[in-house]
Amino acid sequence: MKLPIVAIIGRPNVGKSTLVNRLAGEQSAIVYDQPGVTRDRTYLPAFWRDREFMVVDTGGLVFNDDTEFLPLIRQQAMAALAEASAAIFVVDGHTGPTAGDEEIATWLRQQPVPVLLAVNKCESPEQGLMQAAEFWNLGLGEPFPISAIHGSGTGDLLDALVNYLQPVQDIPDIDEIKIAIVGRPNVGKSSLLNAFVGEERAIVSPISGTTRDAIDTEIERNGQIYRLIDTAGIRKKKNVEYGPEFFSINRAFKAIRRADVVLLVIDAIDGVTDQDQKLAGRVIEEGRACVVVVNKWDAVDKDSYTIYDYEKHLQERLHFTEWSETIFVSALTGQRVEKILELVNQAAEEHKRRVSTSVINEVLEEAVRWHSPPVSRSGKQGKIYYGTQVSTQPPTIALFVNDAKRFNDNYRRYIERQFRQQLGFKGTPIRLIWRSKK
Ligand code: GDP
Ligand code: GDP
Repeated sequence: MKLPIVAIIGRPNVGKSTLVNRLAGEQSAIVYDQPGVTRDRTYLPAFWRDREFMVVDTGGLVFNDDTEFLPLIRQQAMAALAEASAAIFVVDGHTGPTAGDEEIATWLRQQPVPVLLAVNKCESPEQGLMQAAEFWNLGLGEPFPISAIHGSGTGDLLDALVNYLQPVQDIPDIDEIKIAIVGRPNVGKSSLLNAFVGEERAIVSPISGTTRDAIDTEIERNGQIYRLIDTAGIRKKKNVEYGPEFFSINRAFKAIRRADVVLLVIDAIDGVTDQDQKLAGRVIEEGRACVVVVNKWDAVDKDSYTIYDYEKHLQERLHFTEWSETIFVSALTGQRVEKILELVNQAAEEHKRRVSTSVINEVLEEAVRWHSPPVSRSGKQGKIYYGTQVSTQPPTIALFVNDAKRFNDNYRRYIERQFRQQLGFKGTPIRLIWRSKK
């Protein structure tokens, strides 16, 4: 799912980052990494009504300079604008239009991107209109008086903004489930791949937009197409230039990003290692569904307790993916290999599942009844107004509350557990967004 991007542009100190924080709410920790997006800028997810987008803060833009570093910021702003669906040009209502604003406006008028003009620091409504009016001269249409600090005026601005954003293609690929097989060297990835494919059935297809040696393989079972991502990377293990480790983890990260469902392959003999944990962490960061595949089960000396011992070990070492299914297989003998795909189907289903707002609020009401939100030392209590699922892949639920700061980690985890217990979402991470509503 590719979200439209909104670039925030303006001189230093006009309030760009304050505005970004207001639009993105509590989510500042997540750095999005989607195809086509450059890594060295910070993108924050945001939404308005039912529309989702990403905001990117471009840093303070100054044209008239001779210092060494500012041109870099300018490059960044230009790059951000090039991939943006719309821009918000922020100016300072206290200072009125400056020469710097005029330079930026001249540049923006030449860009093929719709620009909205936000006149910030307009706390007082009447004065705000007058302050904003001074900016008509910039030739960028109607100035919107806002206060990034208080939030006033931002609703009108966002209403105008979403008209420029393409609707999100929320419809996932209908026929195809993209699978990444990841794991340390020698856990049995290529054996597993071969077990799935059986040489003669392989349809190898290079994909556009990625490096030439990223080759996907498609397989079909019961009418369902599965795309096994970057199978060239699974087969090719040695890279002299960087060393095998660097190479494979980097490739694994890329494959995870493109996948719907990640098969995290663990070696039954070695158990869960630090590297496996690192991969699992990445799966969560990227919001991908996951099945834990414990391979080489044939090579484990089993007595009747082994599988329970093993599950305990997994729970301890991979507790942060406790929501994923685990399967014990042997790529060598083929034992239960086909069953993996059933779990993949289930995880993919859950990954794109939507739950109605009424069901979410039933869960919330029940949860709050059992365990009410924390009361701060000053006697103020957190209050949840309502929740709604704002996106899928992974399922993301926004919770509108009086003040997000009143909800500590403990309580947030409690709510997440309630969603898990009541709604399932087996095999997929879920995200909760806590938004203060004033
Ligand atoms: P940036 O450099 O454009 O990212 O600006 P910042 O977001 O860091 O804000 C610069 C200064 O303006 C800070 O001192 C903010 O507190 C202040 N500021 C930001 N938004 C507002 C606003 O809506 N009203 C007022 N009065 N001050 C603001
Ligand atoms: P990769 O580096 O993760 O692609 O691992 P490979 O598929 O190349 O397997 C590494 C080694 O483990 C090879 O010697 C395989 O024969 C062996 N191996 C793979 N799967 C199994 C399995 O299910 N059982 C046993 N006993 N050995 C396996």
